[in-house]
Amino acid sequence: MISAANRLPEPTLARHTVRGACPHDCPDTCALLTTVENGVAVRVQGNPAHAQTGGVLCAKVSKYPERTYHPDRILTPLRRSGPKGSGQFTQVGWDEALTDIAARLAEIAARNPEAIVPYSYAGTMGLVQGESMDRRFFHRLGASLLHRSICAAAGGEAMVQTLGGKVGMKVEFFAEAKLILIWGSNSITSTLHFWRYAQQAKREGARLVCIDPRKTETAEKCHEHLQLLPGTDAALALALMHELIVHDWLDHDYLAQHTLGWEALRERALTFPPERAAEVCALPVEQIRDLARAYGTTKPSAIRVNYGVQRVRGGGNAVRAIACLPALTGAWRERAGGVLFSSSGNFPVQRGVLQRPELLGQRRPRTINMVTIGDDLLRETSEAFGPKIEAVVVYNSNPLAVAPESGKVARGFAQDDLFTVVLEHFQTDTADYADYILPATTQLEHWDVHLAYGHTDVLLNRPAIGPCGEARSNARIFRELAARMGFSEPCFADSDETLCRQAYGEKVDFNELLDQGFAALPIPDAPFAQGNFPTASGKCEFFSAALSACGQDALPNHVPNYETFGQSAAYPLAMISPPARNFLNSTFVNVASLQKQEGRPLLEIHPHDAAARGIADGSVVRVFNDRGSYLCHAELSERARPGVVNGLGIWWRKLGLEGTNVNQLTSQALTDLGQGPTFYDCLVEVQAAATPSNAINK
Ligand code: SF4
Repeated sequence: MISAANRLPEPTLARHTVRGACPHDCPDTCALLTTVENGVAVRVQGNPAHAQTGGVLCAKVSKYPERTYHPDRILTPLRRSGPKGSGQFTQVGWDEALTDIAARLAEIAARNPEAIVPYSYAGTMGLVQGESMDRRFFHRLGASLLHRSICAAAGGEAMVQTLGGKVGMKVEFFAEAKLILIWGSNSITSTLHFWRYAQQAKREGARLVCIDPRKTETAEKCHEHLQLLPGTDAALALALMHELIVHDWLDHDYLAQHTLGWEALRERALTFPPERAAEVCALPVEQIRDLARAYGTTKPSAIRVNYGVQRVRGGGNAVRAIACLPALTGAWRERAGGVLFSSSGNFPVQRGVLQRPELLGQRRPRTINMVTIGDDLLRETSEAFGPKIEAVVVYNSNPLAVAPESGKVARGFAQDDLFTVVLEHFQTDTADYADYILPATTQLEHWDVHLAYGHTDVLLNRPAIGPCGEARSNARIFRELAARMGFSEPCFADSDETLCRQAYGEKVDFNELLDQGFAALPIPDAPFAQGNFPTASGKCEFFSAALSACGQDALPNHVPNYETFGQSAAYPLAMISPPARNFLNSTFVNVASLQKQEGRPLLEIHPHDAAARGIADGSVVRVFNDRGSYLCHAELSERARPGVVNGLGIWWRKLGLEGTNVNQLTSQALTDLGQGPTFYDCLVEVQAAATPSNAINK
């Protein structure tokens, strides 16, 4: 590995600040201010002029210079020089690397371009470095399409089928709510800026209720915590509806004017009395009744539902049930009432212009689901599947660490006849299996433009420093690959700055972005006070004709987990894998200060479950099921409810014990809606294990 120490960018100007945007997979999309001294980024702060950021960043991104100038940063193209997975590479020049990659892809494409698969997600959320020139390149090539499903596919589809899109309350108005349900969100660690609004509301007398299988840092700070079993949220939401109906805590006028399918939903909800939900969720029945009373009688009441809820078989139905609640009470009438899952549907991104699907011509390539990459890499050619995958180009993602059933993912990437190219900052688990690693710029080194999924402001990111080493932006790498493939359409000449301007076209004033770094979308404060949902009917659709037409239940329902708690003698514990506080998916795991803070790979287990297995606090345990085995340290803690263990993620496999991480255990089964992942639908057993040689002492 080449050290970054001697490769800092050349000095340019004296001290100045540059406005940017946080690129990470987080709802808050903060506005950054980077202080640059003599061409070196010395400090990254929140921009106080951006109200949503309020000058505050999370601890992870405050460490951005440490990450940018990390001694392990990849600074030149690298070609594999040892067996796949060995992590052995030699330095090569850009021209040699790009020419060889283009030749290899062209050779495969000549047989069948669908044998080539792009694999990317939200390693950067930027529209330019994440979904522009790359898509043009793969469309022109005729490569397989990718269903980018790994995070929010089930909940996103649920919102589309219920409210008409990923839309909802404006986050700032949570500060004015009198009751806030924080449903499946550890906001203190994963949406810090929402939490500031919730704290403001709390100071004004609001009641905060957390609904989560884990006793999170957020749950500890709320007035109440409903610690339900994973995958039972829809049952709870339906029981709340039941109580709203029987106590007549309903807004009949709102229901009549602005909803579709009320009579049918009413009938469904009446089959879920609190006693039934109490049994399904393993909650005290009084706690459910109390919550229903509070929700039915407090105005304004607001719900922040986050992604944990939808990572189970019935995740889509659960989000649909929760999204229906504000229409029953008419909470939407006030700006501090309603629900927020994601705000990304508000942004008028010109994806057609950015991605150029017309470059496909008459071709209609198959779609690979990124969640099932483990199985799909191992499939042979067949009529149903299409051609065996011969090449994968990975960027903005680390599938070896983040995709479910990672033992299979590793086997897939280890195949000698698979050609793998990885665009990266670091030699991740996935990069270890690459044939070529291409050094990518970080957010401090390139242009980009952003949407957000937790607020409604567009942000521009200007480069603060020159590229480290020989790093190039993703868009530039695909532009140069396109040139070597002979793609001569004018759109392949667009610069990164041009792409920034194309992302919103005339819909957002680019000069405003240049002037202040952000621009607010013109959205009414209470967007659904008079209905006007972006559904076909213009109403909140309790009954979805679209779901009915494809054979799905048209009404929200409780869909039990594939791996239901209590149904397996061999695997009696349910496992969820929420993010460790100092990591963001698999990003930041190799930043020394954050890794030190996090300590070591942990499984939180309730003291009763640990005692029954002879497991001591801090000891090494083996967590296992039929899919694999994961070695980590046990933390005896009431953060875990009895019967449920929390495997905090997502450690890089090679930084874990015995080269494993929690995704050894998770399943490739898909959700009811949206074909998303079911990370939290996972049964396991835990046993004490011998301490391996690479165990980390705290
Ligand atoms: S809170 Fe989220 S958006 Fe803000 S700096 Fe941290 S990761 Fe980025």
